[in-house]
Amino acid sequence: MSEQPTIRLPTACLVVLVGPSGAGKSTWAESQFRPEQIVSSDRLRALVGEGPYDQKAGKDAFDVLDLVLTRRINRRLLTVVDTLGLDAARRTAYLALARKHGLPCHAVLFDTPASQCRERNRRRDRPVPAKVLSDQIRAMAGARASLPSEGFDVVSEAGPVVVVPTAMVDAPIFAHRQREQPMALRFGLQVPSFTWAGEVAEIRDRLGGLAADAETAGFSSLWVMDHMLQIPQVGREWDPMLDSYTTLGFLAAVTRTCRIGALVTGVTYRNPAHLAKIVATLDVLSGGRAVCGLGAAWFEREHRAYGWDFPDRRERLDLLEDALRLLPLMWGPGSPPFEGHRVRIPEAICYPRPIQSHVPILVGGQGERRTLQLVARYADACNLFGTPDTVRHKLGVLARHCDDVGRAVGDIEVTHLSTVLCAPDRDVLRARLDAIRPKGANPEAFADSVNAGTFDDHIGRFRELAEAGVHTAIVSIADLATGGTADLAPGGAVAGFEPVIEAFRI
Ligand code: GDP
Ligand code: MG
Repeated sequence: MSEQPTIRLPTACLVVLVGPSGAGKSTWAESQFRPEQIVSSDRLRALVGEGPYDQKAGKDAFDVLDLVLTRRINRRLLTVVDTLGLDAARRTAYLALARKHGLPCHAVLFDTPASQCRERNRRRDRPVPAKVLSDQIRAMAGARASLPSEGFDVVSEAGPVVVVPTAMVDAPIFAHRQREQPMALRFGLQVPSFTWAGEVAEIRDRLGGLAADAETAGFSSLWVMDHMLQIPQVGREWDPMLDSYTTLGFLAAVTRTCRIGALVTGVTYRNPAHLAKIVATLDVLSGGRAVCGLGAAWFEREHRAYGWDFPDRRERLDLLEDALRLLPLMWGPGSPPFEGHRVRIPEAICYPRPIQSHVPILVGGQGERRTLQLVARYADACNLFGTPDTVRHKLGVLARHCDDVGRAVGDIEVTHLSTVLCAPDRDVLRARLDAIRPKGANPEAFADSVNAGTFDDHIGRFRELAEAGVHTAIVSIADLATGGTADLAPGGAVAGFEPVIEAFRI
């Protein structure tokens, strides 16, 4: 079996085994999957009947099997159906179930020689009657012939399995393409959490070290969030959360070449003229490396906590538009008055002006009606997230907004934000995943959420994003934050990403 090619399965999928009794289906399944991922008709016969061979319990066992499958697929849990798989109607039903929930469905064929199945069957405590087995072996020939046209996403021979995040299933193809015909992609590092930085007194040194490591590894930009409390997607609200622009001032001092910015500044937190002053100062003190990330803000809880208004979405987008129009005025010559939807600034006055003649403005968010329209009208860069298909779709929408205002969509820098967990091989990867996976989290769903992969998995995934139109991939490295339990040195995880960056340096 080990000579068989590896089967690459996405974290959410349905796997249908096909083969006669004694072909080795259950043995294979048990060697490749966790027990709870395998739904076996024999085990269910034993559960609802008198034992795994209780033929009279067959109907009940399959009723339960169908119910369990439906519930698991509904939760997008990786599931292996361990039945004979020789009944075409059942195979079709499994496939339809997967399709209904948008899950890929793989068939795995057990092409064990008939003589071997018969031999193994003879040795069983309760052999299948010889005639029954012969019927199964004959049915197997039919299944082998019809499977390729039944609509399964993949039909493969049994072999070793690797389960990879759905976003990385096709990574080998794209990684190969990247090696053959490399595309350029820049990388940014987002630091959304400071939990890895040890005691509060250690934050300064650890963050400084991390910034230096990031520059050495080849990251071309460094980003922090603009939040007062840690956000629920990242940690707990009592985890340390540094003020964004104070931190960026520090990062300006400890770095030399990379761009720095907030991903993204919420327009609700500051008077926008004051924000222009802050960003101008950052640009001056960083030697012209500031990027001004802007967004409409969303985290209501911290607005309430700090006594700020949290206006509705429309008003927040109005504020975003006001900021997008005001900031260049603030940074430009003279001191013109400004009147926006919600903001009135009598004198847009700011000295020193930034070093960059044009401080790039990046808008975060991918709302199709308004946010991407604002990008088209005012921004230098957008920040998207999601799959390559999502990126392509959003860039299509952005291109239409650009057409409307007579701007070339190619002028807009496309950035993309995602979390990564990277390791040189699958064993190390599994150990790193286990070290940071919250108790009770489903291993596949968690691996998916942090894009856990080997170098090649990542190179393939980023190549796919580059082909979709991404210019800069901003990553948050999942195991920077080990919760203070494991190795606190972030340099390892940052330096560990270097081979991925290297693959896109052309
Ligand atoms: P199933 O009926 O297709 O589920 O087959 P099983 O997995 O129950 O295997 C039938 C018998 O074949 C068991 O006694 C297994 O130990 C044996 N068997 C299964 N797979 C292999 C294999 O890859 N190598 C060897 N040597 N024996 C196997
Ligand atoms: Mg079996």
